[in-house]
Amino acid sequence: MDISDSNAALPAPARLVATGMAIHAAVYVRQSERRTTGSEASTAAQREECLKAMQQWAVPPTRVEVYEDLGVSAFKNVARPAYEQLLRDVRAGRINVIVVHYMSRLSRKTAMETFDQLRPLLMNRVRIVSVGEHREFHADNQIALMELLFKLQANHEESLNKSLAIKAAKALEAGLGGYTGKAPFGFTLVHETRMAADGRPVNVKVLTPDAEHEAPIVRRIVEIVETWITTGDPSGSCWKIARQLEAEGHLTRGKRSAQQRPDALWEAKTVKRILTDPRIAGFACEGLYGFRPDGSPSNKIVEYRIIRDGNGDPVSAYPPIVSPQRWRRVQEWLMNRHPGGGDWQGRPSGVLSAMKLLYCECGALMTHGGSGAKKHYRCRRRAVKPGQHTGEVTIGAKGVEEYLARRVLAMVAASRSDGAAVTVLANASTRYARDQEQQESEQVTKERDALLAERSDLRHARQQHHADKRRIMLNGGFADDVARDEWDETEQLLADRMVTLDARIARLENSTRLELPRSVWLPRDGSDPIGPGSWWALATRNDKRAFLRLFLDRVEVRKAYRHAGRGVPAGSRVSITWAGGVNLDDPRNAGQLPGIV
Ligand SMILES: [Zn+2]
Repeated sequence: MDISDSNAALPAPARLVATGMAIHAAVYVRQSERRTTGSEASTAAQREECLKAMQQWAVPPTRVEVYEDLGVSAFKNVARPAYEQLLRDVRAGRINVIVVHYMSRLSRKTAMETFDQLRPLLMNRVRIVSVGEHREFHADNQIALMELLFKLQANHEESLNKSLAIKAAKALEAGLGGYTGKAPFGFTLVHETRMAADGRPVNVKVLTPDAEHEAPIVRRIVEIVETWITTGDPSGSCWKIARQLEAEGHLTRGKRSAQQRPDALWEAKTVKRILTDPRIAGFACEGLYGFRPDGSPSNKIVEYRIIRDGNGDPVSAYPPIVSPQRWRRVQEWLMNRHPGGGDWQGRPSGVLSAMKLLYCECGALMTHGGSGAKKHYRCRRRAVKPGQHTGEVTIGAKGVEEYLARRVLAMVAASRSDGAAVTVLANASTRYARDQEQQESEQVTKERDALLAERSDLRHARQQHHADKRRIMLNGGFADDVARDEWDETEQLLADRMVTLDARIARLENSTRLELPRSVWLPRDGSDPIGPGSWWALATRNDKRAFLRLFLDRVEVRKAYRHAGRGVPAGSRVSITWAGGVNLDDPRNAGQLPGIV
């Protein structure tokens, strides 16, 4: 049998066309680097190739959705948000064809690992189409599946070999004093040829202070801090340093190299990262990575640890930009400013921080600052553009947080049945269900996969059974009444099993379909929904954020002109865009507004 023939022509997923089922296609694209490295096509190019191939299909898809993972490897164990969403949509029956440029986009893990992952998809009668390889994979074609296994193993081994080769080369370079990462701020990489132990010349990159551009900026930052230390000025902060660097016209690396982030401005966290980097004092160090809220390791360095020798002394590895003594003084200043140290990113402490929700009227994000009763959110605009507000825009943290909580809880309590509010509640429900689905236990997922696979097998069996009958009828009908009864009995059996199975699937769906837990959020006795003892008052910051995220898309703050800001009710300065882009304060939605409790 010629394997290539089993699958060669690929006008459209054959069986779907034969059964007349509507094609709900998902195009999955992925790129491991954010920039095109040359070794793999950009996600835009992948998408284009897939869509182009789909135009050749005899039956056009009813719906096409694109799932994109950018800057995500399929070789390492990292989260792939779009891929996870794709799996969920397949399980929910929203997708029946997955289209990829090459199978390596879906996975670079071992064949067995990947097959375990893809099996539930294929069992759900999904077809996977690789347009670059001209292949279609589905559970009914055993030969194509075997071919898929070989292909996946080849993809994995290619990645493994590449990864091992890169590791070995990095180890050799490091052993010869080379630097294998991206140069930290203040430094540049200088190419040098050094001799390996076996006499072979090796091209290494040596970390060298960037005397022309970045090292002077590092020294300037340290000088600014030293002035504050000397004069005893307690008002200094990394944010102030960032503003001063802007004022003095120093360029960030992004702006100077004009490559990835040509608009990059100085930010407090950048300044802090530079100041805490032991390499500017010439010390060898390693970065410690943080964790995401879900507990998985993040790719952000949260702390630098100095590498020490046998005596516990720091290992000097690079020419220092500032002396170790000066660097230590600066560290002390930083520690005193941020008691508890460690958390040098300055963890945002406001409910509305780090959720990309609160914006100033000028379009800039607002971030949290201040302490005690003076906690506020402030516009982080860097440069005034024509027509924008002058001066700062700030709003009291407590006021705006409580205003938003009241508005949302009033919406939940009112459960209005009119247009705009219904849209918001429906969107919030969908978001809530998705949140819960993401936390759904693996066991439920497995059970559902098993039930759906069983159901699709059963449907297959019934189709065969009916095909048998058609063949019998074409050949002159059943031989006798016994044969007819046997056919009817089997039909009844299959139908009964289908009913039982559907009931089990429905039960499982019901146990996982979730209504908004209104009774949890609202006080039972009709008391103040954010008062003492209320859900809001007791909720953690993350719970509050997740709650607001369900209902709100964007909150915009206007500058308080007439009064100095204080005493002006938050509500009079805030515009809310509700879930799904709904504006309830729009006059067209007037009269549908749940009032403020
Ligand atoms: Zn602003």
